[in-house]
Amino acid sequence: MRSARVVAAVLASIVSAMASGAEYAPLTVKVSPVRVSKHVYYVLGDLGPASRSNQGFNSNAGFVVTSEGVVVFDALGTPSLGRELLQAIRRVTDQPVRRVIVSHYHADHVYGLRPFKEAGAEVWAHRRGYDYPQSAAAAARLEERRTSLAPWVNEATSVVPADRWLESDASFRLGGLTFRVFAVGPAHTPEDLALLVEEENVLFIGDLMFAGRIPFTGDADTGAWLEAIEKVIGYRPTVLIGGHGEASRSAEADLEFTREYLVYLRKTMGEAAEALTDFSEAYDRTDWTRYAHLPAFEVANRRNAYNAYLRMQSESLAPGTPRQ
Ligand SMILES: [Zn+2]
Repeated sequence: MRSARVVAAVLASIVSAMASGAEYAPLTVKVSPVRVSKHVYYVLGDLGPASRSNQGFNSNAGFVVTSEGVVVFDALGTPSLGRELLQAIRRVTDQPVRRVIVSHYHADHVYGLRPFKEAGAEVWAHRRGYDYPQSAAAAARLEERRTSLAPWVNEATSVVPADRWLESDASFRLGGLTFRVFAVGPAHTPEDLALLVEEENVLFIGDLMFAGRIPFTGDADTGAWLEAIEKVIGYRPTVLIGGHGEASRSAEADLEFTREYLVYLRKTMGEAAEALTDFSEAYDRTDWTRYAHLPAFEVANRRNAYNAYLRMQSESLAPGTPRQ
């Protein structure tokens, strides 16, 4: 009887090791925290698109260590990377992770949520992301990543929903620090959230800022995104951390690249839409030389331009819509 129980226990542990092995395929990329202020750290992903060579580590995340626990901002792009981030936090502090704030429900920021949930953290996101985890778009993206990021994204990977869906701005105190969560969407996505660590004036803004690579504008509302950038500049952060690219200590100057790119998309594609020029022709005619050498140009630029073309078309058809 006793030996049967031992065998059962051994089998159970093998099964669970296999399961966690499947869920958390090993990585060789390093997730190394950079300290930007007394309590705030971030990790810097590769500048290119998610790929097998960067093992999906192409986005940033951050964390704030307080005497009453840790607050995390975004969870990286695979369960394995989320676990690496959690282990990196463990090397800095033994405080528990209390909360993860999700900037938006794009794969490269949320597929790493699972290990944080398992560690007991509460996930917060904006209500406008509520439908995403069960949507056809989420399923399609997951299928794509199970191929392009195998084995790190696999059958065990799922899109973890938030525990709390914010309707608007929120704030809380933890360990003597004030955390302000701002709803800054719709911009890059409808559900964009930013997090300000008030006493240290460090602001996380997710994908409102792309530094050193072509932004991904997918289904973004670029007009509202430009307004959100103005709002971010108005906060005058000492350190600004975007979803891709290095942290900035000169917010206005470093937001300029994203801003100029969005303005250029809207201008060129807006003129084409206005003149009823066919998209392909307009795209080929547009001068992209300022951007063509940057990481992610090949995968993102044409789609960005097409989205801008469609948006500008509908904006030009909708009287009273503010125009760029
Ligand atoms: Zn994004």
